[in-house]
Amino acid sequence: MYLYNSLTNQKEEVKPIKENEISMYLCGPTVYNYPHVGNTRNMIVFDVLRRSLEFQGYNVRQMVNFTDVDDKIINRAKEEGVSESEVSEKYIKAYNQIRANLNVLMPTYTPRVTETMDEIIDFIDRLVKVGSAYEVDGDVYFDVESDKHYGELSKNTIEDLKVGARVDENDKKKSPLDFALWKKMEEGLRWDSPWGEGRPGWHTECVVMINKQFDNGLIDIHMGGTDLKFPHHENEIAQSRALNDNTIANYWIHNAMLNVNGAKMSKSLANGLLANEMIDMHGGNAIRWMMLNTHYRLALNFSDEVLDTAKKELEKIKMPIKQLEIKAQLANVDYVGKYDEVAMKPFIDALNDDLNISNAITVVYEVVKELNQLIRTREINFELAKDKEATLVKMLEILGIFFPEIKLTEEDKETFNKWNAAKAEKNFEEADKYRAILVERGLA
Ligand SMILES: [Zn+2]
Repeated sequence: MYLYNSLTNQKEEVKPIKENEISMYLCGPTVYNYPHVGNTRNMIVFDVLRRSLEFQGYNVRQMVNFTDVDDKIINRAKEEGVSESEVSEKYIKAYNQIRANLNVLMPTYTPRVTETMDEIIDFIDRLVKVGSAYEVDGDVYFDVESDKHYGELSKNTIEDLKVGARVDENDKKKSPLDFALWKKMEEGLRWDSPWGEGRPGWHTECVVMINKQFDNGLIDIHMGGTDLKFPHHENEIAQSRALNDNTIANYWIHNAMLNVNGAKMSKSLANGLLANEMIDMHGGNAIRWMMLNTHYRLALNFSDEVLDTAKKELEKIKMPIKQLEIKAQLANVDYVGKYDEVAMKPFIDALNDDLNISNAITVVYEVVKELNQLIRTREINFELAKDKEATLVKMLEILGIFFPEIKLTEEDKETFNKWNAAKAEKNFEEADKYRAILVERGLA
């Protein structure tokens, strides 16, 4: 597997820390509202990466956090007149439902900030003790100038950043670049700490969660949107460098954003395109196929046209599978197809090339074409066709696309036989009647 590493700005072969194992982390959502469709792009890309690595025999340990401590959650709780935990529970549930509807596998770990508080406080305390962080009036800040390599990921220098930094006169920080690890709080969600009551800053939670689960706080792949590269990911790395002398992950992967009719769609922008509504309207497969059709490092332009195209393409791919299933079941074929390792190779090779989806999809279409040819022959070789179908289904499974199983009932089979008989007798009126029944059943 080769991935484009933002640390080095080049494609690199992924060499796992532990043999046959890949550990990967994705910055998860702040759970205060229903996610927009744009928020699903990175979870889909992350899922395809996992599925393709698992297919190649890796044991994948995947982590996606839930940020359940944030001003936005506290404000939402006030607005709705409920507790903060009721707000986060509600939206965590919604988020997991969207995962399921988009065929996104549940990550191995889904830690929450509220469940990681002891470790967060301990981590900040250690940063203070090594001299990388300092306390002012109950707040704790990371001392950015203590990190000589700060800017490595975003290709910034401290000097350049200082020139562009906004200086707030009331700031208690040593440098405008310093970021909060702990914020003093007198109301809302707050915890006891060596610096008094307060709550952690956002930049510190991901790195602590990774440290809690993975040896030396080091994983193979860290993913997130390009919008998080600076300052969030840069700040995650700075903390890890201070305590573990590493960059958290050997490969930092960034996905581009989603544009809605030209307008950039980010976490904070309310375009009204809620993921659950989009899924209800168009189905999880269509959303997923649309997201995958553009390479993850390119901006994706979301529009009705793009979505319609995705739906049409999926119909084209589904058609031969459906037709073969019907023909095989009418012929009482019980052979179970096996996917062809050799035919899978160009597909996997494409995914291994920094998730080159367009090349992978080209391979899918070749298999669709071959399957179409096999089922159009007069005497169908069912074993050959079923194997081809299994190869296609396996590729779709790695992309996370699943079609409902076709299972003909005895009545369906009878209707098919009557339809064929009517056609043979050129009794078109009768044939149309049976055809209508099959259309109704989604079989013709
Ligand atoms: Zn993060």
